Parts: sequence; structure tokens; C-alpha cells
Amino acid sequence: MRLSYSALETFQNCSLKYKFQNIDKIKEPKSKEAVFGTLIHGTMKFIHNPSLLPPKLEDALDYFSKNWNSDVFEDELEERSAFSMGVAMIQQYYKNNIVSEYNIVDLESRFAIEINDPKSGANPSELPGKVHGASHIISGIIDRIDKTEDGYEIIDYKTTKKMPSQDKVDNDLQLSVYLNAFLARYPKEAANLDKITVSLYYLKHGVKLSSTRTLEQLKNANQLFLDVIAEIEKGIFVPNVTPLCDWCGFQKICPMWKHKFKEERKIDSEEINTAIGDYINLKSAIASTKTQFAQLQEKITKYMEQEGVERVFSDEGIIAQTLRKTYKYDEKQLRDILEPLDKWESVLKVDGIALKNIMSVLPVSTRQDVERSRVLDKESKSLTIKKK
Ligand code: SF4
Repeated sequence: MRLSYSALETFQNCSLKYKFQNIDKIKEPKSKEAVFGTLIHGTMKFIHNPSLLPPKLEDALDYFSKNWNSDVFEDELEERSAFSMGVAMIQQYYKNNIVSEYNIVDLESRFAIEINDPKSGANPSELPGKVHGASHIISGIIDRIDKTEDGYEIIDYKTTKKMPSQDKVDNDLQLSVYLNAFLARYPKEAANLDKITVSLYYLKHGVKLSSTRTLEQLKNANQLFLDVIAEIEKGIFVPNVTPLCDWCGFQKICPMWKHKFKEERKIDSEEINTAIGDYINLKSAIASTKTQFAQLQEKITKYMEQEGVERVFSDEGIIAQTLRKTYKYDEKQLRDILEPLDKWESVLKVDGIALKNIMSVLPVSTRQDVERSRVLDKESKSLTIKKK
């Protein structure tokens, strides 16, 4: 299978979107964010394109402005704000960098590397570039590769507002994949990993977050790709609603969103609209009844305690107080009883919450092993409400 890093990221965020894009090959209308990001990346390439006279700030702004696309913006205000944001990013970039000082090795460097599938009998931990038996292709584009004083730097530009923590950068899969691609091109550099920096450059903030990688992390990146490929090959694609849906061009065909466009689709009857409204209102009424019920219960219990009575009477009926007890077993005693009978293991159950709590302190490879051990237990459907 051929899988780009961005397709892998899409699959991890929403496997249904991956299917729409990569299997059904449905063309997604470009969002304004994507158009903006592409132009900023193009401008960065323009700035660093090797030439005798590197472009000045005015040249870069001129390039940005000449390639601006107004069509994707809904109104003038939105467009103006995006344009000024782009200008500010480029100005900041020039303020923080002397563009002529960098020794650029490659820009928008395309790669396609092979990784081996352990099931093929090949060595799963081989770095890309060494092909034995069945393999998959990872493809992508590295924004920039620089030669530094004693090594190299691999840079990926980001136009998003949210910046990750240093810990996330240290474990960022994209950077590991890019470094693997770099090593497939320059295999000798595998011996100098500590001299190769991988960086995410957040242009909105003018901040570059950098890290390095160990050989083990690079092998883990390969394994993660293989795990995702195995998941894709299962052929199960489910929608995953997240804030990223706001930028998804498939809302009109996605089961989680398409009903929102019901007027356009003209398929709904008055009856179902009424049922949806009634359901939401009834759910609110149930919630408020529950609160009222708890308040009454508290009042009556207090009264019974004060009066020293176990039952209270009214014309509607009788309320009696009952004592409910719950028990738990002493673990040590129970173990002493069951272990000799070889039954202790059969009463032990994995505690999902406790497992989640210790996940963050486990080594990355162990975390991945734990994730891989996850199997679907049971599934059921329920209705949840998100009020406007
Ligand atoms: S709208 Fe959201 S849930 Fe639907 S395909 Fe797109 S990302 Fe997935």
C-alpha cells in the first residue's frame, strides 16, 4: 500500500474522511485554511529558493499578494483578516531570520520510501531504504532541509495557531517519518543522528520547536505506519466528530453531518422534525425532574431523621426508608482462598480506568503494545444531545 503521512494523519483523525479521500477518491473542495497554508508554504519556498540575490521582504510580500486567491473567502472581512495574518507572518519571518544565511539542501523535497511488513518475513526494524520482501510505500513532502554547521536540519512549516508541548515535538511522528525519508536518501547520516535536528516552525508565532530522534524512535515510526496500514486493510471506516469537522469538505455526505443540510436535500418530513424537537425538550424535562426529585428526597430524609421515623404517610401513599448496603471483598483474603483452587486468575478483570492512568508513564513502545492489545468488547447505540 502507498500511504502519505497526511493520509495517515487523516485516517487517525477520522477514518471515514480517509475513505472518502483515498478510497472513494471524492474530490474535496479546498478550504480557505488549506488555500492559505499552500500559499504561505509557496512563499517560504520562494524566499529560500537558491539565487544570487535572495528575495527581500518586499519581494516576498509581492509574491504573496500576487498569488492571493479571494474566491475561497466568504466575505471581505474574513479575507482581509487572513491577508493581514499572512503579511504579519512573512514580516515576522524576516525579522527573526537572515534568509541569505541558510545553507539550503532541498525545498519541498518529495519522497517515497519503502518499509517492510514483518508478516512478509522481513526484518520489521530495518530503516527504510533497505527492502527485503513485501513492503509498503510512505510518501510525503519535506518543506525544507538545511545543512547546518555540523549536521542537518529538517524543517516543517506550520500555519496553525495551536502550538504543541516540547514533549509532543519530541515524539512527533511526522518529524520521525521525515527523518526516515532523509536517511533513506543519505544512509551514512544514520551514524550522526545526534547532529540532525528536526523542527516544526510555527509561522504565526514566529517560533521554531526543535528536537532530535533516536534510532529506536525511527523504528517505532515505521511500526506505527504498519499498524495504521493493518487498520486500513480491515476496511472499517467510521466517522469521528471533532473540531476538525469544521474544516472537512465532506460534511454533506457524512452521516454525522448530512442531516444538517436537510433543507437542501428535501427529504425530511414534518413528523421527524417534531420528533427531534420533542425528544430534546423531553430530555431537558427529565433532567430538571431528576434535580427536583433529588431535592425532595433530601428534604424528606432530613425530616425522617429529625422525627426519628422510618415511614411517612400522605393521602398519595407511604414512603419508607430502607438501608442499602454494598460490599467489597478483601483482596488478600480472597486471593488466599482462590489461588490454591487455581481460580484467582479467572476473577481478575482489567481495570480500564487504572490502565489509562498509568499509560502516560509507560515507555512509548509499551504504550503502542498496549494499544495494539485492544479488542472490541461490545457495542451499542444510544442517543446523545448537543443543544444549540
Ligand atoms: S465531517 Fe467530520 S466526521 Fe464527517 S468525514 Fe469529515 S471529519 Fe469525519
